Amino acid sequence: MDDLPSPPEMPPLSPGSVWLVGAGPGDPGLLSLLALHALRQADVVVYDALVDRRVLALARSGAELDYAGKRGGRPSPQQPDITLRLIRLARAGKRVLRLKGGDPFVFGRGGEEALALAAAGVPFRIVPGITAGVGGLAYAGIPTTHRDTNSAVAFVTGHASDGEVPDGLDWDALARMPVLVLYMALKHLDQIARRLMDGGKPGDEPVAIVVKAATPEQRVVETTLARAAADAAAERLEPPAVIAVGPVVRLRAGLDWIGAARGRRLDPDPLGRESPQQAVKGS
Ligand code: SAH
Repeated sequence: MDDLPSPPEMPPLSPGSVWLVGAGPGDPGLLSLLALHALRQADVVVYDALVDRRVLALARSGAELDYAGKRGGRPSPQQPDITLRLIRLARAGKRVLRLKGGDPFVFGRGGEEALALAAAGVPFRIVPGITAGVGGLAYAGIPTTHRDTNSAVAFVTGHASDGEVPDGLDWDALARMPVLVLYMALKHLDQIARRLMDGGKPGDEPVAIVVKAATPEQRVVETTLARAAADAAAERLEPPAVIAVGPVVRLRAGLDWIGAARGRRLDPDPLGRESPQQAVKGS
């Protein structure tokens, strides 16, 4: 890795500054070049529970790995403690890499941390990552948009800061969205499904629950809105899971490239109708 040529425009992670970097959903191959560049330069990597071990293994030898996560039975630092730690490390002249799962600005509190850095006068850079709701679903063979099915998608958290289903959301309006991508929604999936069905989404709407997407333990359960919570319980699914709701889920029958590599036969017409484009091509 050390002999990888660095593009000349790659900026340095300077002492006394913090980079807030998205690590993607799991597979280290989904890191950006800037993320890898930061891992190779950082003095300290402050990382969350969702950051894959294989990504941390790319840190410069000698870099201090500092866990700031909230899972796994370890102590759970509060958010203000984490931002204070970042500020303190930067003021001590360290090159600080704040590494988050997925994208730091998508349900990742990256905005809050960056605002605190700005308030403290600590220079920072944001390095976007591949969010689980896009890249994780792609690893399950599910596109977030598809011309034949949807021209809009909503990203929704199923978990408010008080731990409950967010009440401030207009669930009836969400029920009218063609495709929903749910984060942190496994725990309250029964309530969420009920609210969406109350809002008019049919019980047979396709749902895919993708657990530990883009990792070797990835699991995908395809179900329907009415059965999703019961199936998740029966399969004993555990977070992290990203959940797709809508007709894009049916495309998986044709796009499950990981399954195909293991011998699954893909259906070239997963929506059950030849699209106009295919007809023109005669395929
Ligand atoms: N910033 C992250 C989201 C953090 S919120 C991102 O952009 O992806 C945490 C939630 O993200 C989890 O509860 C789950 O819904 C989702 N998530 C993150 N990584 C995931 C993965 N590898 N597989 C499935 N879901 C994941």
